[in-house]
Amino acid sequence: MATRYIPTIGLEVHVQLKTRSKMFCGCPVEYGAEPNAHTCPVCLGYPGALPVMNETALRMTALTGLMLNCKVAEICKFDRKNYFYPDMPKNYQISQYDQPICDKGGVPLHELAYPKDAQKTIANPNKIVKLVRIHLEEDVAKSAHFEASSGIDFNRAGTPLMEIVSEPDLDSPEEAFAFLTALQQILVYGGVSDADMEKGQMRCDCNVSVRPEGTTELGTKIEIKNMNSISGVRRALAYEIERQTKFVGKGGSLAQETRRWDDGLGQTTLMRIKESAHDYRYFPEPDLLPVDTRVFMDEVRSQRPELPAEKKARFTEVYGITDYDASVLSSDRALADYFEAAAATAPKAKTLANWISNDLLSALGAANEPLSDCKIGASQLAGLLGIIESGVINARQGKEVFLEMFATGKDAAVIVEEKGLKQESDSGAIEALCAQCIEANPKAVEEFRAGKAASINFLKGQVMKLSQGKANPALVGEILVRLLSV
Ligand code: ZN
Ligand code: MN
Repeated sequence: MATRYIPTIGLEVHVQLKTRSKMFCGCPVEYGAEPNAHTCPVCLGYPGALPVMNETALRMTALTGLMLNCKVAEICKFDRKNYFYPDMPKNYQISQYDQPICDKGGVPLHELAYPKDAQKTIANPNKIVKLVRIHLEEDVAKSAHFEASSGIDFNRAGTPLMEIVSEPDLDSPEEAFAFLTALQQILVYGGVSDADMEKGQMRCDCNVSVRPEGTTELGTKIEIKNMNSISGVRRALAYEIERQTKFVGKGGSLAQETRRWDDGLGQTTLMRIKESAHDYRYFPEPDLLPVDTRVFMDEVRSQRPELPAEKKARFTEVYGITDYDASVLSSDRALADYFEAAAATAPKAKTLANWISNDLLSALGAANEPLSDCKIGASQLAGLLGIIESGVINARQGKEVFLEMFATGKDAAVIVEEKGLKQESDSGAIEALCAQCIEANPKAVEEFRAGKAASINFLKGQVMKLSQGKANPALVGEILVRLLSV
């Protein structure tokens, strides 16, 4: 019988912090600026230039530590990590070695963080993926290769970079996907990073190995470098697990190597074989003093936001909305804020949650528009629901008004007026339509009288049609029953 192989995955995630200036100099951090527009002797690595610590970056990393339940060190220090790389002219990176700012902690996974097609088959619900540490370092410059030359852009050099290292605690590509999604949400919640992988604000290296089921010793670790999308991480890991399983299954023995993922080809290819462990000759950075985090921790603690899981619990409790709606709404901080702003004046929070997680999100998806560009303000959506609730228009007309609001940003009341959409609630007028309908549909009438209750729905539909959708459906039902039971 064929041996089953168990994958083990660990991730190293580099996250660019959303500070205004760089880690050790005053140059601005700006995405998409003209190459080499933001440089100085410190971030260009001139000999003798002295680094000055960015306190905001330290606070943001400590805040991340609090949000991920890490132990924030009272004292941390910076070290030089020595290696040669063309995009790092000083030949060392200022990083943290044996005294990082955050230790341990974890990332809680939740259902909606998994890929859609895997949400029904979660192996470990509510798993918390353990972290080893979070440390702070500086980013390097960015090289670009052209046909006959190469260029280096130093705008990125010296940008504050948080490195979040997980334990080899992930069991599947789907869990890795959920880990990155949940982590990204928390980072955005805390305002420490926009964590957009496509913009390189969050980058991920994956370590993956397979071992025969029933054994405990981990297999040979293969590293996949520089992943730049969450779905790419999932695909790369799935490919690599299959490749390793086949190879080891045939009796092959893997070498420790670094591979790169080609998303177009859908495969990993060899970058380099690790012949020995790197020796970076770490030593304490002589130009920077150790940091005492106690100086700012009280303030950082007061800045810890309510996190997605906590928000979700509060939403179900305070607003009485479903677990599912609460998960959707709390998965994104801006969406959660939108919901709460609208709930302040909406007639029913439950109906509101429904409109946001169905109508609003699908309209945004179809228009490929972020919530920040949405033309319907939170109070405007609450206004629409108020008009529906008061019976001026019915739910079907409400959908029509909603789409018009989405396209134009006009208030619901204005659209109702302009389109003459008022729901017909004049019982005399509706009664006339009902009578007309009973006259025209003797078969349904007969069935209803013979006890087939569902026939009333057919008649109701006919009356709605006659009224061109304007009749108050509840009133139509009432009047039909009254007329039919005499
Ligand atoms: Zn600089
Ligand atoms: Mn690093």
